[in-house]
Amino acid sequence: MKKGIFFVVSGPSGVGKGTIVSKVLKKNDNLRLSVSATTREPRTGERDGVNYFFMTESEFLRRIDNGEFLEYTQTYGIYYGTLKANVESQIAAGKDALLEIDVKGALKLINAGIEACYVFIAPKSFGVLEERLRKRGTESEEKIRTRIEVAHYELSCVEKYDYLIINDDLETACNDFNSIINSFSLLVKKQNLERYDWHK
Ligand code: 5GP
Repeated sequence: MKKGIFFVVSGPSGVGKGTIVSKVLKKNDNLRLSVSATTREPRTGERDGVNYFFMTESEFLRRIDNGEFLEYTQTYGIYYGTLKANVESQIAAGKDALLEIDVKGALKLINAGIEACYVFIAPKSFGVLEERLRKRGTESEEKIRTRIEVAHYELSCVEKYDYLIINDDLETACNDFNSIINSFSLLVKKQNLERYDWHK
């Protein structure tokens, strides 16, 4: 059995990652979303083990000490991380794993030489992103400013990634992502050649 592939996707807050990711997951049977651990409070409708593994800061820190995270980050005072146990068994079973993580976490994986397909989702322009963040209307001006600052930093890291998707038109962005997934699964090294009678 060939191992699965890691797809790592990042992009600034407000770019529409969540919508794209959920559409792409519906189209790709072999792809599973990695459920991250976090110390933030669940939002209305979020469920433990489905959206995140919600945990206290002390439990999160204990798991860091135990080396249980593939990567983790602290952002806006909250911890987020990918649990090794959660994704490694999936990859070993031949399923692909989609990690929707921030740029700091993705850079840790890139710098550690973790083999993955690194995808960045960006807006058409900075103005569009700013407008989306403001339109949400759920956050204070201070929080919006912080998100804008972080977005500037995140966009400056795009060249570390393998692929760039511009989310101008949702359908085009999803098609682009599906093409990336498809082309990765066609890599010779990702295919199980034993299944072909011409392969010795
Ligand atoms: P939210 O609180 O809105 O669910 O997520 C905030 C940010 O945390 C998003 O940018 C998301 O990509 C990032 N994030 C979620 N899970 C992880 C994770 O496991 N690792 C890292 N590095 N970032 C994560």
